[in-house]
Amino acid sequence: MAALRLVLGDQLSRSISCLQGIDKKRDIVLMAEVKSEATYVKHHKQKIAFLFSAMRHFAKSLKDDGFNVLYIDYHHDDNRGSLEAQVIWALEQHDLDEVIVTHPGEYRLWQAMCEWEKSLGVTVSMQEDNRFLVPQSFFDDWAKGKKQLRMEFFYREVRKHTGYLVNDGEPEGGKWNYDAQNREPMPSDKDVPARSHYEADKITQDVLALVEDTFDDHFGNLDNFAFAVTRNQALDVLNTFIDERLENFGRYQDAMVMNQPWMFHSHISFYLNCGLLDVKEVIEAVLQAYYAGEAPLNSVEGFVRQIIGWREYIRGFYWYFMPELATKNALNATRDLPEFYWTADTRMNCLKQCITETRDNAYAHHIQRLMVLGNFALLAGLDPEQVNEWYLLVYADAYEWVEMPNVSSMILYADGGQLASKPYAASGSYINKMSDYCKRCEYSVKEKTGHQACPFNYLYWDFINRHKAQLENNHRMGMILKTMGRMDDSKLQAMFEDAERFFDKLAVNEKV
Ligand SMILES: Cc1cc2nc3c(=O)[nH]c(=O)nc-3n(C[C@H](O)[C@H](O)[C@H](O)COP(=O)(O)OP(=O)(O)OC[C@H]3O[C@@H](n4cnc5c(N)ncnc54)[C@H](O)[C@@H]3O)c2cc1C
Ligand code: SF4
Repeated sequence: MAALRLVLGDQLSRSISCLQGIDKKRDIVLMAEVKSEATYVKHHKQKIAFLFSAMRHFAKSLKDDGFNVLYIDYHHDDNRGSLEAQVIWALEQHDLDEVIVTHPGEYRLWQAMCEWEKSLGVTVSMQEDNRFLVPQSFFDDWAKGKKQLRMEFFYREVRKHTGYLVNDGEPEGGKWNYDAQNREPMPSDKDVPARSHYEADKITQDVLALVEDTFDDHFGNLDNFAFAVTRNQALDVLNTFIDERLENFGRYQDAMVMNQPWMFHSHISFYLNCGLLDVKEVIEAVLQAYYAGEAPLNSVEGFVRQIIGWREYIRGFYWYFMPELATKNALNATRDLPEFYWTADTRMNCLKQCITETRDNAYAHHIQRLMVLGNFALLAGLDPEQVNEWYLLVYADAYEWVEMPNVSSMILYADGGQLASKPYAASGSYINKMSDYCKRCEYSVKEKTGHQACPFNYLYWDFINRHKAQLENNHRMGMILKTMGRMDDSKLQAMFEDAERFFDKLAVNEKV
């Protein structure tokens, strides 16, 4: 029995389940740069270049080690344009009895693959995606029967299950969560280490030329391309993070600084999500630094929480709530995505910064995605479908399983509170506290109404007012609704009018 083993662009791992038990002489590994995957949304140019280069390097390393690899590049004469058509083509060319795949990360692809056995006429074995710490069934069992699925409680279960930062059932240091020590703004004299930078070799140069030529109408530019594209380079990113950034990761996790897109974050989501790094090795390397006394607990626990808390939880949440999650719109948000999300042409300096950096790097760190770009999308009532598409295509680490719960549930509250206990809404004062953006803004964060007032200020109260009936039953919103109840009526009216004027400008694409 010879098998065709299909490795997708985000499954670039030697230990991926579809390669387990491979017979190097008999079986064929198929990898293909297909049009349907590269263009179903207009992915950022750097995202396509990163994945094509990482795929080509991975295929080469397999070939060097004697695997029988069939690699179909984008302009190959035999490129059939979709994964299914490519698999059919491979089955026609070779004598194969079975197709082996790893469960894909996106619902649409999973649905399509479930039909393959019928259309291909051979056995299709779908193996579990083994690149997470816990299987999907762990999340399903935990979630079953619960009214609220808060990440914090899932995170504790995974901590206990894995034993990471747990001693005799008790959390290291006595607390499960050191979030309160992860919220410092950055002092202006603090230096940030430079981002890891990898020179483009011949494979990457070819890919960059291909992307520039073929995907010229896609978002973003390639000028700053410096991603790791091999496993060794990805390991180097991880080690550099531990050596140079981990110590300050926790303290400045929520801070934002002008022209500092990378801050003290790890920049490993690209590599974790495409298989170049393994979640276990990442956690264990960070814990090793902690036990060697090289990093403080607030940084280490904060980092572990992002990975074995948020990342594992988000993946479980996606599969638990799909396909319904894709159409959720609890706040009936219908406004079109403003043009400035593509051009960065806005007077709001925080948005201008975050969109410019996204365009230049295919990256923005978490708090920029959440509290600037996401906060605006929430307050302005932007259509979840358009916001999801934007986030899916602009970031080089974006795949629907991780992007959609973060967008629909975390930033837009489109699921009505299945993920978040209240909407992540904030006025300009939060952005002012956590960044230096407001100092260089044409608007004044101190002003609540009028032409100069920061739009986040009046949009915030307009949002609370628009949704007060829905939020009234949420005990975490009680204080805010009470505060609004005590506010001067004429002041509130002035803010609602400012919000209306702002939305009128957005509707005609006038610069805001
Ligand atoms: C609206 C929105 C959209 C997002 N879209 C994506 C996405 O498409 N792909 C993606 O990988 N992350 C996404 N995130 C989560 C997070 O912003 C990124 O994982 C992070 O910015 C990646 O940079 P880093 O590796 O430097 O992360 P660090 O800040 O160093 O964090 C370490 C790791 O923790 C994990 N992590 C942290 N927060 C989350 C989270 N909320 N969900 C899942 N994993 C998390 C990531 O694997 C990340 O690499 C999104 C967050 C928001 C608010
Ligand atoms: S003043 Fe308002 S719009 Fe300007 S940077 Fe600050 S929060 Fe953003």
